[in-house]
Amino acid sequence: MKNLYRDRRWLQKQYCQEKKTLKEIGEICDVKESCISKWMNRFSIPTRKKNKFQPKIIDWEYASYIIKHYRVKKRLELSKPLKCPICNKDKKLELSNKDHKYREDIDDWQYLCHKCHYIYDKTTINNSIKCIIRFK
Ligand SMILES: [Zn+2]
Repeated sequence: MKNLYRDRRWLQKQYCQEKKTLKEIGEICDVKESCISKWMNRFSIPTRKKNKFQPKIIDWEYASYIIKHYRVKKRLELSKPLKCPICNKDKKLELSNKDHKYREDIDDWQYLCHKCHYIYDKTTINNSIKCIIRFK
C-alpha cells in the first residue's frame, strides 16, 4: 500500500476522479501531505486550490443584501423566538432590520412574522422601495 502514491495513474485517480484531498491520500499511503504534494508536482498533476470550496469572507460594508441577511440569520438562529414578538402568533418568522440601515449589529435585527414585518416596514420606511426576504 505504501508506495502507491508513486504511481502516477493511481495518484491521479485518487485525486481527480475520487476527489480525495492530498491529506486523505497521504493517510492512505501513511505519508505526509507534503510528500503527496511533492509527487503531484513531479507528475505535473494540477492541484485544486485549497480555498476553492470555501466561501469568501467579504467585509460587511461590501456584502450584498442577501449575504447580510444570511450572516445575521446564522448568528441569530439560536435566539430565534417561537412566536412573533408583535402579534404573538406562532407563525413562520423572518428577519427584519429595525432601522433599515443593515448594520452588522445583531441588536439591529429582529424576527417577525411576514405580516408584522410588512406592517413594520410600511410604517418605518416612508415610500422607499423595500424587499423582504423570507428564510425557510
Ligand atoms: Zn406577527
